Amino acid sequence: MRSGCASQPIWKFTLPAWAGVLPDGRSYNTCRSAGVCRDMCYARAGTFMIPSVLRAHQRNLQYVMDEPEAWKAQMIGELQHPRFRPGASRAHVRIHDSGDWLSEDYLVMWMDIMRTAPDVVFYNYSKEVELLERVARPDPPPNFLWRYSYGGTQDEAIQPHHNHVDVFPDEASLHAAGYTSQASSDLLAAYGPTTLGIPANNLPAQRRRQGQKTFRALQRAANAQAANRRYPRRGPAPGRPESR
Ligand code: SF4
Repeated sequence: MRSGCASQPIWKFTLPAWAGVLPDGRSYNTCRSAGVCRDMCYARAGTFMIPSVLRAHQRNLQYVMDEPEAWKAQMIGELQHPRFRPGASRAHVRIHDSGDWLSEDYLVMWMDIMRTAPDVVFYNYSKEVELLERVARPDPPPNFLWRYSYGGTQDEAIQPHHNHVDVFPDEASLHAAGYTSQASSDLLAAYGPTTLGIPANNLPAQRRRQGQKTFRALQRAANAQAANRRYPRRGPAPGRPESR
């Protein structure tokens, strides 16, 4: 795990974003429920794509995939370090700067890890709504706080009372919609209100793709388009009385 920020240390465990190929030739997809977000993904550009950074995230993924028990033991061991004990401020671990819950087994392993470190708060943004509601919601570790993020294939399963985040074109549109901006602290993902908003990042290509819409709106439009392709609207068949 790495600390992302000196002034407000938040420890992070990160997987590579979305799909790729490992150095040994295996292909992966760490964001199984990504939707439109993948075309505007902050983690598929910039520093995340520096070869050494991407490789480090891929090594995390390989470790989880190939030696899950060793990985889990190492995580539990790391969390015994004094920096994770109660001090002036509580330690926080953000699970996944990029990537998402790979499988039910992986989520369960993380929940086991969380239970060994009750003084640490773990938080997470996710598009795996069905998995978290089914596996985590009934009996979550008390130190696990998660938030659903729009722009995925399971958007429709996000209920109004679920903590969620949407990506807006800018701060002004976010406030106009009655959302609270996450810009001041990422810990708002854990402690913020139900409706949290993120202003679009500064990557020009991604901003162009997003335009003036939110991820939620873009996903809705994509879903409607897909439904139209699956069930195209047809007029009355030629020759039938109603076609006259
Ligand atoms: S789920 Fe997150 S990390 Fe994965 S493609 Fe979407 S925005 Fe990127």
